[in-house]
Amino acid sequence: MSYTHKPTVIETIAEKLHLIPDLHAQGDDRGAKSATSDGTQVNCPPPDQWDNWVEYDSKSWPERKTKEYMLIPTACFNCEAGCGLLAYVDKETMTMRKLVGNPYHPASRGRNCAKGPATLNQIEDTDRVLYPMKRSGKRGGGKWDRVSWDSVLDDIAGRMRKAIQEGRNNEISYHVGRPGHEGFMEWVLRAWNVDGHNSHTNVCSSGARFGYAIWEGLDRPSPDYTNAKFMLLVSAHLESGHYFNPHAQRIVEARMKGAKLAVLDPRLSNTASMSDYWMPSFPGSEPAILLAMAKVILDEGIYNRDYLENWVNWKEYLQQDYKGTPVTFENFIEALKKEYSAYTPEYAEKESGVKAEMIVEVARKIGEAGTQFATHVWRSASSGNLGGWAVSRTLHFLNVLTGSVGTPGGTSPSAWNKFHPDVHAKPKPQTFWNTLQLPDEYPLAHFELSFLLPHFLKEGRGKLDVYFTRVFNPVWTYPDGFSWIEALEDESKIGLHAALTPTWSETAYFADYVLPMGHSAERHDLISYETHAGKWIAFRQPVLRVAHAKMGNPVDYTWQANVGEVWEEDEFWIELTWRIDPDGSLGIKQYCMSPYRPGEKITIEEYYRYIFERVPGLPEKAAKEGLTALGYMQKYGAFEVESNVYKVNERTLSEADLQGSSVKQETGLITKNGKSIGVQVKGLNCTGFPTPSRKQELYSQTMIDWKWPEYRLPTYIKSHVHQDIMNRSKGEFALVPTFRLPVLIHSRSGNAKWLAEIAHRNPVWMNASDAKSLGFEDGDLIRVNTDIGFFINRVWVTEGIRPGVVACSHHIGRWRREQDPAANRWATNRVEIKREGGGKWKMRVAESIEPYESSDPDSSRIFWSDGGVHQNITFPVHPDPISGMHCWHQKVRIEKAHEEDCYGDVFVDTERSFQIYKEWLAMTRPAPGPDGLRRPLWMGRPFRPDEKTYYISKT
Ligand code: SF4
Repeated sequence: MSYTHKPTVIETIAEKLHLIPDLHAQGDDRGAKSATSDGTQVNCPPPDQWDNWVEYDSKSWPERKTKEYMLIPTACFNCEAGCGLLAYVDKETMTMRKLVGNPYHPASRGRNCAKGPATLNQIEDTDRVLYPMKRSGKRGGGKWDRVSWDSVLDDIAGRMRKAIQEGRNNEISYHVGRPGHEGFMEWVLRAWNVDGHNSHTNVCSSGARFGYAIWEGLDRPSPDYTNAKFMLLVSAHLESGHYFNPHAQRIVEARMKGAKLAVLDPRLSNTASMSDYWMPSFPGSEPAILLAMAKVILDEGIYNRDYLENWVNWKEYLQQDYKGTPVTFENFIEALKKEYSAYTPEYAEKESGVKAEMIVEVARKIGEAGTQFATHVWRSASSGNLGGWAVSRTLHFLNVLTGSVGTPGGTSPSAWNKFHPDVHAKPKPQTFWNTLQLPDEYPLAHFELSFLLPHFLKEGRGKLDVYFTRVFNPVWTYPDGFSWIEALEDESKIGLHAALTPTWSETAYFADYVLPMGHSAERHDLISYETHAGKWIAFRQPVLRVAHAKMGNPVDYTWQANVGEVWEEDEFWIELTWRIDPDGSLGIKQYCMSPYRPGEKITIEEYYRYIFERVPGLPEKAAKEGLTALGYMQKYGAFEVESNVYKVNERTLSEADLQGSSVKQETGLITKNGKSIGVQVKGLNCTGFPTPSRKQELYSQTMIDWKWPEYRLPTYIKSHVHQDIMNRSKGEFALVPTFRLPVLIHSRSGNAKWLAEIAHRNPVWMNASDAKSLGFEDGDLIRVNTDIGFFINRVWVTEGIRPGVVACSHHIGRWRREQDPAANRWATNRVEIKREGGGKWKMRVAESIEPYESSDPDSSRIFWSDGGVHQNITFPVHPDPISGMHCWHQKVRIEKAHEEDCYGDVFVDTERSFQIYKEWLAMTRPAPGPDGLRRPLWMGRPFRPDEKTYYISKT
């Protein structure tokens, strides 16, 4: 933001010769004034000039033509990081011309990855859905009619009203792919009294989350990379993963200051290639490595005694597992050493293939880094393997041993760095528990069992009357997509399916309504994520709506400023909620009232105004510039609520908190009204962690109480793709299907031409030694057999993956059928799908990607034809019996493609997939737990319902 550019000699000559625009001239000759008022060029225009910014038009070059812009901040939606974007709106055409980084965003600090600027492609996509569409003919038949928003809203609201009046609240479900909306949907769903929040988290991160939650009650890590001395990633955070742009820049910062980086990944990712230590572990063996490191730290005494002694529930461990042994710290350490004595570096090497010497060296570096040790695991190992939650649990064990929890340079719980807004009306928690989302077999599941929905419906566990999917594409993204098609096509199981989506998708093709929703720069949203040791909020705003208001032409609804009749979700939900309860008799309408105009419907501006007026420090900061809190957010798009957030567990309880509380002498636990509120540590009344002991729970009574005593301590669980069950001579491999390509967005980049141009193939990575022994050459066609079918792909022979493992990126292989609206043509193959009876499905590519004529001249310039292969649809579901996470990795058998096979072919047997679902279901140990509970009361549950619903007998 403060960078100023001094022209080089060559630039100066080129400017004088008018070969390039003169950006450095002074006074009247200052050309396009793409500079501050003192004439210096900056890498971002200063905010006081954002309403009227003038630049040369690059397309008019060499003619020196200027263009006037308004710069309006918003936030990216192309991954969860929510980086800041600054949209350039052409004042003449009132269209967005580019989106760049917003330097006032505390997490992204003006930087974006390729996906941020590509938002423009998505907005200008010539195939996008512009009007609400209603199916005609049978569901999935591909026939659509344009309808009015009024008719859509009345139809859906009427159906919902009837369901709620009849007590069928559990037949309403909202299923979200890419989330956002801090607090918004909780507000809406609770207003309806519906336990219907279903997310994608069980195919994403619930494995890792459970591993953290069982330690500290909070379910994600927030590493303070910037101040770290040593970083250990079980992920690819320099290139992909959650918050990767904000994280990557901080990892790089730390490395520039001398920090070292170790990466556990069977694949030589871009992240691993930048590391000091690449540990190409066999999938699922990571806990063995991490426990071996713990053993080294314990044996060599390089642990943090002060932290362990004060912030870990070690006394409980000794008292329970070593009855009669004096409860001393020394005895605790001896017990731990004994517990982990089998995890020698040599054993870890045998399990993982990572050299014992490297494991020891990294363990010592971790010990040296002490409290400045930052870690992260996201998806990858924790989402791939049976027992993958043990990866995050054992990784966090290293943070606990080194006392690097919540310290500068350490790793904090996510919640410390995330802001939760205060909404204007707070409906009570819902009085329903929806077992189609959290069934009793999975009492500890960290999020909804969303990927099992087709199987639950098939078993007759319930049905859905109104099913909303929002930016959600399970047919393509989830495992077992053909089972999803079978469920979605069955109107007796799903009464109405409304797909809220910015683009056509494989799932939208099986909807009753396709409702066009805005991209990131076309709607409102509030975001806050744990990107670093601070707390911030960012404001996603509809850029053209803001621009029209600035030009003196305000609109009432966002869709009026957007292209076609593209709505924003917030206004959709408010309008729908209002219509469900038109006379207020259901008690729902009251939550949609304006906090500022009694009796009137809330506007979207009022909803955010109320929140921003209550963000600590924001009104004061805004007032210094003569702005309201809302005005500040509209101007800058982001606000830092708190910086340098560390050691929140040590914050002390107030006198008011303590009034009426009592302290348990042996443990220091402070309770009030039967609930723990804190813990005494070193004589201070600390808030601690939200666990039963209020400390880090090395020893988990919860695991014992819920029938998993063998996992009461951090341990290693052998994966369902463990090398012991692989017969390499038969071509059996562990397939890693989870890795992301840095420029693609799950199933939402098919409408982004720049991104599709960069990446459009997903070959199967195979180590050169494996390829040699199987007789494969680079590019050979192979059949990859899963437990329910196969896919045909090409092999990529590389040294960048460990032997015995193959990998295939999951972003590619998008498709549409002949009857479907042409969409995402930068990335979709046209396929023929045949249903052969008995649950057998075949898919074949009929036409690969081709240039096409459209209003965008680039569509006729498409030079690639390979649209990749859809692999996820050939995977059965693998629900982990504890975390509920879908364990993505597959045991596959790879052979040469058969004569009849074609590139991109897919075959699946959904009857077999149902059997496999049953096999995994049989591994569970269902509720009830103690006191007839469905789930431990202390553990977080997404969108928590009324406490009464937790007791099976009472509901
Ligand atoms: S990391 Fe990239 S895709 Fe994700 S929010 Fe930031 S700019 Fe967008």
